[in-house]
Amino acid sequence: MVCPFCQAEETSVVDSRKNTEGTSIRRRRNCSSCKSRFTTYEKASIAQIVIKRNGNREEFNLEKLYQGVQNAFGGQELSEKKLKALVDTIYNDIQEQGNKVQSEFIGETALSHLKEVNQVAYVRFASVYKEFSDASDFEKEAAEFN
Ligand SMILES: [Zn+2]
Repeated sequence: MVCPFCQAEETSVVDSRKNTEGTSIRRRRNCSSCKSRFTTYEKASIAQIVIKRNGNREEFNLEKLYQGVQNAFGGQELSEKKLKALVDTIYNDIQEQGNKVQSEFIGETALSHLKEVNQVAYVRFASVYKEFSDASDFEKEAAEFN
């Protein structure tokens, strides 16, 4: 990013923060030549579309993912900071899919990250996301941790 004051090539990011929805990033930059500070905003130009199992499409909702992961932890076992970091990790994988993503991919990605962090949360999330056909499927998942 070129400095808007002196057009120097060398500018560095001194602070970077996402908005609450995680849809944009605000960066404070510092020019190493003239020492001016300026702000840039980064925002996705294409909304991500989720393709559901039944073929329906809806816009990706980060808040929904956050809620799902939070519910898996029962709001207890993880600090807000760690929860946010975990959701960010999952969201990064989802964004790599481009502008269309299968709902299964979101579920499986969340599960694989949850599995590394907390096994109880993993099973809880799985019970919601995987739509177990019967109780024995759920027991099979739960048995992996016994
Ligand atoms: Zn400058």
